[in-house]
Amino acid sequence: MGLTEAQAQERDIERFAAPQGQDEAVLARQWAQVRARLQEEIGEVEYRTWLRQAVLHGLDGDEITVMLPTRFLRDFVNKEYGALLTALWQATNPVVRRVDIRTRAVQRAPEAGVVDAAGGADNAGALEAALGEPRPRATLAKAEDRGVVLAALDPRFTFETFVVGKPNEFAYACARRVADGQAPAGFNPLFLYGGVGLGKTHLMHAIAWELSHRAERDVTVAYMSAEKFMHRFISALRKQSTLEFKNELRSVDVLMIDDLQFLIGKDGTQEEFFHTFNALVDAGKQIVVSADKSPSDLSGIEDRLRTRLGCGMVADVHATTYELRMAILEAKAARAGADVPVKVQEFLAQKITSNVRELEGALNRLVAHAHLFNRPVTIETAHEVLHDVLRAYDRKVTIEEIQKQVADHFNIRVAEMASARRARNIVRPRQIAMFLAKQLTTRSLPEIGRKFGNRDHTTVMHAVKQVTALCEKDAGVAEDVELLRRSLSV
Ligand code: ADP
Ligand code: MG
Repeated sequence: MGLTEAQAQERDIERFAAPQGQDEAVLARQWAQVRARLQEEIGEVEYRTWLRQAVLHGLDGDEITVMLPTRFLRDFVNKEYGALLTALWQATNPVVRRVDIRTRAVQRAPEAGVVDAAGGADNAGALEAALGEPRPRATLAKAEDRGVVLAALDPRFTFETFVVGKPNEFAYACARRVADGQAPAGFNPLFLYGGVGLGKTHLMHAIAWELSHRAERDVTVAYMSAEKFMHRFISALRKQSTLEFKNELRSVDVLMIDDLQFLIGKDGTQEEFFHTFNALVDAGKQIVVSADKSPSDLSGIEDRLRTRLGCGMVADVHATTYELRMAILEAKAARAGADVPVKVQEFLAQKITSNVRELEGALNRLVAHAHLFNRPVTIETAHEVLHDVLRAYDRKVTIEEIQKQVADHFNIRVAEMASARRARNIVRPRQIAMFLAKQLTTRSLPEIGRKFGNRDHTTVMHAVKQVTALCEKDAGVAEDVELLRRSLSV
């Protein structure tokens, strides 16, 4: 398998960073980690669209500066990914508090803050129209002075912006109860679980916002990812300040740990978490935890911890339904002030089914594209702008389907695909089927060979070469292959 872009960058940095001096090398390595995490969080396609061109400028005090080539990209990244970028930096380097996202050609005016010297290539006006008023620079949520510790809360993740439907109504109701600050003992801990991109983090942040900003009482909330918990714990060990760490955590009213599955296999950190957990529950404090699986399915978590995790309220955030996806799209389009026809919303809700984050990303791209090129959002532009995302959601074609379709096309029996016969009118279609199997599936050469009557992988390789060469020489063959490819790809 090839490296992802971020992995390749990390490798390059490892190779070239050493002579630049230790600090820069460390920073470069951290930046590579942040990029890799970003890519995981938002997906390869989004990453490539918006963040590939991001360059690390440096660390000044507690502020990291990241550069993007245009104002358009800068504003979009700031708005959509600023909080995430900040959170990831904070998780990677404890010194970092803020992330400043700038365009590359920037001058600092004497008093007026930052002034763009760039311009030209981008279309900031259109972007502002597309995405609403630019948000102030991403910073650590200013919640600290209001009672949230260690948090980088995303200001978009509130109960108001959370769309409730059948799949998430129970989790939502539980989250609300805890956010009211009056949840009965049976709600401790609240354990939210479900697949990627279904709104767990959104609900966690919403609880934290509500408790720290709205509650009458003075409530101290600690929200962090399990990863951050581990980082903090390890750095406390290193600095021999574990007691402070313990006391700090045990002094909060509500402890929220996101993505607990991260603690699988991290025995020392699990142990620490277990003790903190017990101390807080015994003191009547609230715990909220999220994970990708239910407590009983979280293998690799110590039994006694698993038992405690499962004895409060366990709420499943189910996969979305078509209705919920439509409601989410409608709400997000309305928030962006974008005119997205119902037909396009239906199209997206049908196609992008597994993950709200991707659904949202697709909508954002469509809207940004429409404004940038001053064109309405239509099904055609959706196809055009989102072809890479849509392709990933397309039905996966199997070798059997390819064999059947090719056999039909050339009017031979499917059984000939695996037979030993070497007649020319059989060999050619068989080779084309092998070629298409290589192109349209992720199967390896030996796997393909096996499906074609246990042929050797070199035979498949030969077929791929033959057909490639033939397509160049013979327009008739090229046309057959293209026709088959298209009918198999829809
Ligand atoms: P998870 O933590 O479960 O992987 P997130 O909470 O990060 O998922 O959600 C991914 C994205 O989808 C976020 O931008 C979030 O706001 C959005 N999202 C998920 N579910 C909903 C929902 N029901 N209503 C509105 N936005 C949602
Ligand atoms: Mg999450």
